Amino acid sequence: MKKRIAILGSTGSIGTQALDVIAAHPDFFSVELLFANSNADLLIEQSTAFKPNVVIIGKKELFDKVNTALSPHSIKVYAGMDSLIQCMNMETLDMVLAAMMGYAGLLPVTEALKNGKPVAIANKETLVVAGDLITKIAAENKAAILPVDSEHSAIFQCLQGEQINPIRKIILTASGGPFRGKDKNFLNTVTPQQALKHPNWSMGNKITIDSATLMNKGLEMIEAKWLFGLKPEQIEVIVHPQSIIHSMVEFEDGSIKAQMGLPDMKLPIQYALAYPKRLAHGYTNFDFTLFPQLTFEKPDDETFRCLSMARQVMIAGGNAPCIMNAANEVAVDAFLNSQIGFLEIPVVIEHCLDKISQSKALSLDDYQRFDRESREAAKHFIQHKSITSPVR
Ligand code: NDP
Ligand code: MG
Repeated sequence: MKKRIAILGSTGSIGTQALDVIAAHPDFFSVELLFANSNADLLIEQSTAFKPNVVIIGKKELFDKVNTALSPHSIKVYAGMDSLIQCMNMETLDMVLAAMMGYAGLLPVTEALKNGKPVAIANKETLVVAGDLITKIAAENKAAILPVDSEHSAIFQCLQGEQINPIRKIILTASGGPFRGKDKNFLNTVTPQQALKHPNWSMGNKITIDSATLMNKGLEMIEAKWLFGLKPEQIEVIVHPQSIIHSMVEFEDGSIKAQMGLPDMKLPIQYALAYPKRLAHGYTNFDFTLFPQLTFEKPDDETFRCLSMARQVMIAGGNAPCIMNAANEVAVDAFLNSQIGFLEIPVVIEHCLDKISQSKALSLDDYQRFDRESREAAKHFIQHKSITSPVR
């Protein structure tokens, strides 16, 4: 039996690579559902090639275009987030790949897990915002959450066969992004174009900016906390510019397991989709002699304040990660649109964390409210340019 997959965010960097993985293993996988937000042309092309049963376009105004193009095929076409959420109970879905950008993943992932569907999760923001609730829903419904993020896939792989052995700590590796080693004076003037040039990975714009601010590693610490049930002090970050070791686990006896390979997201995507099986791959094999030096250094979390901020937020818990995530999404968008500078991103987030009061035990409605409040606070702050001196 082929595994029937739903890809949420099929037109993005992860989504398109997931389709490459599926195309390379036609005996193992089939595409049951494709969801994209606005890229109707690519969604139509993908749907024509992979012939899913259901196709959903997020933007309702694009429904006619997609529906007309796919009418010669026997594909059901819907539009809007509500339709996607409703489809998460389809009996014909064996697995959901959450590969959309940002907070938008929260509701469909929750619904998939409520219906007992295993979720391969690239969309880290969902775990950052509501990791407590998401992991509870997954446990109650016996639905697996399989990491796709390369660091978390590495840790997951290191943990295979170690069920009885407690983790002493995990070591998340970070490339350091395009501005590794730069100071605040340099960062004060960087443009979105400079920030979008990641040294090792080709990814969507939002995560690429998060990598440049080191917020991505901050989000990944919180993601790891929920995926592996860790305390904040068990999560360490180390800069490893070559991105060959994807992350490590240290056990009680001091032994450290690392997972290595070339930086290629198809590998962790394939591992999550095929788990527990390892499938053959057609990509370049790793050659140690081409990487005679693997180096490691401490992250500069004084210059890259998003990382230290995310650690504090992880420790605070409750609604703090949700507020931080929403403010970060607004701030990154404003930076990409040249409304604020690179160093103003953490200033916007800090403002929202200060402005919105802390709260603990949260329902899905609460998360939605705090997300809204934080976005409004961030937008208001940016519009009124209350930002004074980002260089501290
Ligand atoms: P992209 O920006 O390349 O793709 C985003 C996808 O989400 C697109 O299909 C897009 O649709 C859809 N989308 C965008 N906005 C919305 C919205 N408001 N509602 C619903 N769908 C939306 O992102 P990536 O593929 O790079 O990243 C996706 C997720 O995976 C992120 O959470 C990221 O952090 C995570 N991730 C990515 C990695 C990577 O290598 N790229 C590595 C590890 C994690 P459309 O284009 O049609 O508008
Ligand atoms: Mg990652």
